[in-house]
Amino acid sequence: MPVFYKPVPTSEHDDEESQNLTKSRSARIKTTLFYFVATIAVMYVAYLATRSIIRSVPKHGMHGRPGCHHRNLTTLPSHHILPSGDKIPSVALGVWQAGKGEVGAAVQTALKTGYRHIDGAWIYGNEEEVGKAISASGVPRDQLWLTSKLWNNFHAPEDIEPALDETLTRLNTEYLDLYLIHWPIAFKKGSNNVLDKELTANPYPTWQKLEELVDKGKIRNIGISKIKNLTANPLKHKPAVNQVELNYFNPQPELLKWSKENGLLLEAYSPLGSTKQVKEALSVPEVKEIAKKLDITPAQALISWHVQRGTIVLPKSVTPSRVQENFQVVTLPDDLFDKLEKAATSHPPQRVVNPSKNWGLDFDVFDENWPL
Ligand code: NAP
Repeated sequence: MPVFYKPVPTSEHDDEESQNLTKSRSARIKTTLFYFVATIAVMYVAYLATRSIIRSVPKHGMHGRPGCHHRNLTTLPSHHILPSGDKIPSVALGVWQAGKGEVGAAVQTALKTGYRHIDGAWIYGNEEEVGKAISASGVPRDQLWLTSKLWNNFHAPEDIEPALDETLTRLNTEYLDLYLIHWPIAFKKGSNNVLDKELTANPYPTWQKLEELVDKGKIRNIGISKIKNLTANPLKHKPAVNQVELNYFNPQPELLKWSKENGLLLEAYSPLGSTKQVKEALSVPEVKEIAKKLDITPAQALISWHVQRGTIVLPKSVTPSRVQENFQVVTLPDDLFDKLEKAATSHPPQRVVNPSKNWGLDFDVFDENWPL
């Protein structure tokens, strides 16, 4: 019988044999297919892993010092030097709205990643968990930058030290690197909506008490957040920083220019547009273009832009991969930086965070003139 003829089954046995042949052929095909798909899957996972490693490791090598694990340190500042001589790291982990049960893990991830700056506040209600995570990390205290903020109803001079002591106890530390007056609004003690008009109109007594606490060694630097009416007074310790909202929607170029000219460092809060507008910020065409061209993420493009603008940046995340991602900053080429700066400053500014209504104020805390 010529070999190219397929034998016609002549008996039950032949039929069975043929069926077995078909079965074994289809089993072979299935096995080959399985190995093919498995190989593709393994290669894809390897590609993703390699890409994520490449993205998370600085292109120009790691610096040995903590708080400096950024790319391109030759051009982007890893820290700024304050009038006290202290070095404040450029990128911090913000912990507002980082809930109990998740903030500690976020702080641990951040410290493992190389962050050495945590931006917290008494009002965030999570200082104890932040403190525990810091203690558990084993990072020496003198390598950390801890910021906290004085809440609105502790502005009366006699209430400040007890509030600070509570923060220090919760954070399990002897001193803060930076203590800010959280808002330019003072409430009466124990209330969260009864305005203390006198201390709101004139924050000088509050500032003087903070100066005293610097001299006592409980705070290394003091600063403000959104306060405008302080500089008329003779200050023993000038504000070391001003923490303000800076993001794509509200980039405040005039304030940035004024602050640079007057040697007052700005800290960018809600740098990604806060929870409310982060999605929108990450979808801005110029941000996406930078991300694509530099093979970085949109969040990294925005955070890099802030550092390149010369501000401290405080992105918040409780998602481990994002905490890691947000620590990697790169120098944006001039043309891309300018393009994003132009896009951010060409639309009408829109403030993302404004609690005036929630506090029941009958004026806007960001208005130029308060009807006090
Ligand atoms: P933000 O940092 O601009 O945005 C935080 C939001 O972005 C969260 O929803 C976070 O989600 C998400 N996110 C973070 N990284 C991301 C990434 N790589 N990709 C996608 N989404 C990402 O907003 P913020 O918390 O308003 O501001 C930051 C910090 O500034 C605060 O935590 C606080 O320390 C400080 N702040 C200060 C004041 C003040 O009055 N002085 C006011 C506001 C804020 P997940 O957490 O779910 O990852």
